[in-house]
Amino acid sequence: MSRLRFDCLEKSFSKAPVVVESPGKPSDFFGCKVFDKPKMYKYLSSAAYAQMEAVMEGEASLEPSVVNEVAEGMKRWALENGATHYTHWFSPLTGTTAEKHDSFIEKDGKSGVIEEFSGKLLSQQEPDASSFPNGGIRSTFEARGYSAWDPTSPAFIMDDVLCIPTVFIAYTGEALDYKAPLLKSVAAVDKAATAVCRLFDKSVHGVTTNVGWEQEYFLVDYDLAMARPDLVMTGRTLMGHEGAKNQQLDDHYFGAIPERVAAFMTDLEIESHKLGIPVKTCHNEVAPNQFEVASIYEKCSLSIDHNMILMSLMKKVARRHGLMVLLHEKPFKGINGSGKHCNWSLNTDTGALLTAPGKTDKDNLRFITFVVNILSAIYRHNGLLKASVMNASNEHRLGANEAPPAIISSFLGSDISSVLDHMEQSEEFVRLLSKREIKLSIPQIPELLIDNTDRNRTSPFAFTGNRFEFRAVGSEANCSAAMIVLNTAVAEQLQIFRQEVEDMVEKGEEKEFAIEKVLRKYIKYCKPVRFDGNGYSDEWKAEAARRGLDCETSSPLLYDRYLDEDSVKMFSAQGVMGESELRARDEIKWSTYTKKVQIEGRVLGDLAVNHIIPIATAYQSRLLDNVLKMETAFGKEEGDSLSKENLDCIRLLAGHISAIRKKVLELVDCRRHANVITSEREKAIAYHDNVAPMMDEIRYHIDHIELMVDDELWALPKYRELLYI
Ligand code: ADP
Ligand code: MG
Repeated sequence: MSRLRFDCLEKSFSKAPVVVESPGKPSDFFGCKVFDKPKMYKYLSSAAYAQMEAVMEGEASLEPSVVNEVAEGMKRWALENGATHYTHWFSPLTGTTAEKHDSFIEKDGKSGVIEEFSGKLLSQQEPDASSFPNGGIRSTFEARGYSAWDPTSPAFIMDDVLCIPTVFIAYTGEALDYKAPLLKSVAAVDKAATAVCRLFDKSVHGVTTNVGWEQEYFLVDYDLAMARPDLVMTGRTLMGHEGAKNQQLDDHYFGAIPERVAAFMTDLEIESHKLGIPVKTCHNEVAPNQFEVASIYEKCSLSIDHNMILMSLMKKVARRHGLMVLLHEKPFKGINGSGKHCNWSLNTDTGALLTAPGKTDKDNLRFITFVVNILSAIYRHNGLLKASVMNASNEHRLGANEAPPAIISSFLGSDISSVLDHMEQSEEFVRLLSKREIKLSIPQIPELLIDNTDRNRTSPFAFTGNRFEFRAVGSEANCSAAMIVLNTAVAEQLQIFRQEVEDMVEKGEEKEFAIEKVLRKYIKYCKPVRFDGNGYSDEWKAEAARRGLDCETSSPLLYDRYLDEDSVKMFSAQGVMGESELRARDEIKWSTYTKKVQIEGRVLGDLAVNHIIPIATAYQSRLLDNVLKMETAFGKEEGDSLSKENLDCIRLLAGHISAIRKKVLELVDCRRHANVITSEREKAIAYHDNVAPMMDEIRYHIDHIELMVDDELWALPKYRELLYI
C-alpha cells in the first residue's frame, strides 16, 4: 500500500467518535440562535411586534420607523448572543449561499467605536454583485445589485454572524437569485388556489405552499477523502473500481448507525435545532455510507432557507468529526446516488388541501380538483419540470441505480386512480330530488391514512397520502429551482381551470356540474403523465416516449424548455419571471454545466497522467523484471513459458496505458475545440456530447488497471476503503 494511502487509512481507523455534549431537551434550546417571534416579542415594542407578525404572515408591509426599531432590537439580541458581525444572506444563482460579513462597529466621533445597526442596513445593501453570475442581466461595469431583507424568514446567528435572509435583485428589478422568483411563485399559488377554493367554500382566504425535504448524503473519512483529488475538487469519484461488496445485501438501509456517524448526526441535530431547523429524522440510506436527514415540513420558502443553512452546517459539523460530507448526486459509480425528496403540499387557512376527506361529495370534489389540476400542470410542463432539476451532477443519478428515471410521471396509488378512471368513464350526472341535492359521479374516497397509501419508490412525483413527493430533485440542489416551476405551473393550471368553470357557469351551467365536466376533460388530458408501474424498467422508457412525455436526458438541451413559448408565457403571466430573467438563468445554467464538466476533465486528465500511468508503469516494470529473472534462471524458453501470465498482464497494461495517453490527449483537444465556441448553449452541448463521454472511456481503462496492479502501489484510497467508516 502506498505510504500516503497507508497513513490515511491508519488515521481513519484510529478515529474515535467525538463526544457530543447534549444541551438538554430540544424544546429548551430550539431556535435559540434565531430572532424568532418570542425574541421579537422581547426586544420590540408591542406595536412593532404586531406589525412584524402581520408582515411575517404576508398581511402587511413594514413602515420605515418600525424597520429602524426592528434593526435596533435585532442588534441588541445579536450582541447579547455573541454576534460580532452581520451579513445579508442570500441564494445567488451559483446554487450555494452568499454572505459578506460586516462588523457592527462605527466611529463614535471620540476616537472610539460603538456598535451600530440601522434600519437602512437591515433593509437593503449593495454587495459588489459583479462577481455573481447574472447571465448578462448586468454588465460588470454597472454591477449594481441589491440585497433586500425578506422579513418572512427570521434572522439567525451562525458562527457569530447575524445572518439576515434577503432577496438579491438587479438595479433594474430583475431577480439575481432563487428566492425572489420563489416568493413570487408562492404568491401565485396563493392567489390561484384561493380562487379555486372559493368555488367550494367562501370562507377560505389564503393558501400556503408547504415543503418538507429529505436530504440524502454520503459521509467519508476526511483524511481518506482529502487523498482523493477528484473528491476534493469535483465532489465525486472520477475513477474507482466497485468494491466486492456494496449494496447487494441491502444491509445498510435503516441498519445500525456507525458510532462516528451517530455522533455526527446528534451534533448536526443539535446545531440544526439551535438554528430553528426542525430536523426530525436521521437514518442510514441504501448505499454504504449513505444517510438521510429529514425535517418537519414548513412554509415553502422558509423550508428551503432551512435546507440551505443545513447544507452548510453539515459540512462544518462533519469536519469536527473527521468526516467529509458529500452532497454530490452521484459520488460513487455503481451504487445509489443522493437526492433531495421535496414533499410538497397545500394548506388553506382552514385546513389541508391534499388530504382525501371522504366525507362529503363536495369535499371529495375539491380534493379531486386539486389532484387533477396538479397532474395537468406537471403534464403540460413535464419537460420544464425535468429541466429544473437537471444539471451536470444530477444527470449521473437520474435513471441510474434506483433513482427516478429522467422522465416525469406521477404515481397516484390505486384508490385515487380508480376514482379518476371512474370519473373519466362516467358520462352521466345524476340529479336527485331538488336542485340543491345533486349527486356527482365521484365514488366515495376512503379517508386515506397517510402511511397507508401504496408506496412506489420508482416514481419521480408520487402522491403519498397528503402530499406529492418530488423525488427527482438532486441532493446538492437549491430546491427553489424545482419548486419555482412546480408552483408556477400549478398556479397557471388552477387559473385556467377556474376560468373555464366560470365561463360555463356564466352560460347557465350549475357550478358543481361545470367543475366535474372540466375535470373530466383534464383527466383525459393528463392521463399520459399518470404511471403507477415500475419507473426503473426499460419498458417504461419506451412507453413514456409513445405517450409523448419528455425523454431528453441532456441537460443543455433540456434548458431550452425554459425558453419555450409556453414556459415564457406561464412565468410572465404568473408574475414570476420575465423573458430576460429566463434567458439569463439559462445562460448561467449552460455555463455552469460547461465549467463543471471542464473541471472534471482537467482533474481526470491530471490524475490519469500523474497518478495512474506512473503506477501502471512501475508495476509493469516489476513484472518485466521478474520475466527477465525467470529467463536468467530457467533459460529463455522455459522462463518465457513460466512467465506467460505475467507477459499477458504486461501486454494488457501496455494497452491500457497507451489508450489512456491517447484519450487524455483527445480529451484536451476536445475541450480546446469546445472552448472556442462562443454560444454558451452550443458550448455546453459540446461538453455534454463530446467531452463527458470521453471521461467514461478513460475511467474504463483506469478501473481495469486498478484491478491489475499491486495494491501496495495504488496511491488513491479505493472504494472499499472510502465506503466503510
Ligand atoms: P419517507 O422517507 O417515507 O418519505 P420521511 O419521514 O423520511 O418519510 O419523510 C417525510 C417527509 O415528508 C418529511 O420531510 C415531512 O416533513 C414531509 N411531510 C409530511 N407531511 C407533509 C405535508 N403535508 N406537506 C409537506 N411535507 C410533508
Ligand atoms: Mg420520502
